[in-house]
Amino acid sequence: MPDCSQMESKKRIALVAHDNKKAELLEWAHFNQKTLSKHHLFGTGTTGSQIEHELDLPVTQFKSGPLGGDQQIGAMIAEGKIDFLIFFWDPLEPQPHDPDIKALLRLAVLYNIPTASNRASADFIISSPLMSQPYEHPTPDITRYHQTRKRIQEKGL
Ligand code: PGA
Repeated sequence: MPDCSQMESKKRIALVAHDNKKAELLEWAHFNQKTLSKHHLFGTGTTGSQIEHELDLPVTQFKSGPLGGDQQIGAMIAEGKIDFLIFFWDPLEPQPHDPDIKALLRLAVLYNIPTASNRASADFIISSPLMSQPYEHPTPDITRYHQTRKRIQEKGL
């Protein structure tokens, strides 16, 4: 059986969009304003401030993505402080912080965080009945990882 943590009915949602995707995320956020207003919102610097301004909803803002914002959200995920990631990343343009983006997406997969990389996925996530209920959230089974690390430590490698 996997370990579980409780996701409350009020979810902690991280919102991130690359520059060419910001208009799309803002439009999506407008459309879903009523639902989003029932949750805690977080965002990278520019995305977060745009959403706060346009939707008149409080958004906890991190640094801008290229300045470390993606890493800050990744750290929140690792600490169990983010429930959802809505990340409209740009598949057509390289980003200066590509390694950070990859790291954020890796942690979202590792910690079993529902993630939407495009509008259709975001629509399905936000319209899920689970959005308004508590949810037993299976967290990764890292027992094998710890056992391997312990063996390495014991061998003094
Ligand atoms: P931004 O960062 O919201 O500050 O533009 C997003 C990103 O590029 O990861």
